Amino acid sequence: MGKQVKKTDNEWKDLLTQKQYEVLREKGTELPFSGEYVKHKENGMYTCAACGNELFSSDNKFDSSCGWPSFWEVVSKSKIELKKDTSYGMMRVEVLCKKCGGHLGHVFDDGPNPTGKRYCINSVSLKFKKKG
Ligand code: FE
Repeated sequence: MGKQVKKTDNEWKDLLTQKQYEVLREKGTELPFSGEYVKHKENGMYTCAACGNELFSSDNKFDSSCGWPSFWEVVSKSKIELKKDTSYGMMRVEVLCKKCGGHLGHVFDDGPNPTGKRYCINSVSLKFKKKG
């Protein structure tokens, strides 16, 4: 461990936009098909919008038609933390950034091969770094 990013709510509020704060720190969800990366197809790396942790490669992005950027694999399992989420009467698995604890989205078991996973991630929680 050792590289954790810890900030107070007020520090996060200063650092993040209101939308980013609502999703990353308050576990909100952006409206489907509203995010800037839903149909984004450039080659590069998606990082945590709060702390810069490299999370998802464009190589593992796919069009899931669910309204949020979807990936079938994470760069490394060590980048994220998974947590059981029973809010809203649903059984879901929440995906958090391991480095800053920010809420990213959820992971489902209806993704494509080879993992069968669908990491359904809010655009607002991500930043994109173009390869090159
Ligand atoms: Fe983070």
